[in-house]
Amino acid sequence: MTMTMSEHDKIRELLALAAADALTSAEEKQVAEHVRSCIACSNELDAWRPIATELRRLPTPQPSSWLVQATLARAEAKLAEQAEHDWNRRVMIVVVAFAWLLTIVSWPVFQVVSARFGNLLEPQFSHTLFSQTWFSHTSISFAAFTALGWLAGGVAAVMLAVRQRGERRLA
Ligand SMILES: [Zn+2]
Repeated sequence: MTMTMSEHDKIRELLALAAADALTSAEEKQVAEHVRSCIACSNELDAWRPIATELRRLPTPQPSSWLVQATLARAEAKLAEQAEHDWNRRVMIVVVAFAWLLTIVSWPVFQVVSARFGNLLEPQFSHTLFSQTWFSHTSISFAAFTALGWLAGGVAAVMLAVRQRGERRLA
């Protein structure tokens, strides 16, 4: 991921607080600069503004700045948590689909290879006996292939999750 992407993600997390005027002046400047060149963040900031205004319009006692900040920060954290959850689920679906695709695609290839091997190794077998042997060999191979596919998928999912965590820390 590029630095621009990290900056974009970081700014997005500040937008709700920016709308509530709950940022430090340095953060405010950072947000203002990013929003000038990023339509997505600009639109999101515009979406947060009326919400923040409504919060400030609440009848007395007015929520103090820290309360607004704490509430919005909690809402943001919840949204981020949800996003991460959705992302992980999407990764799992893709990985499982990939494992199945791998298994399905490899099945005919395995049949051909197994048949060739079987003919070379066991030409003396009667047709029926050969078929049974071939079938059980292929079944075991297929099961092993499936297990390998799922294992590869699991490893890929863990690697992606670890990488995502690392990117989050850098952001
Ligand atoms: Zn942005």
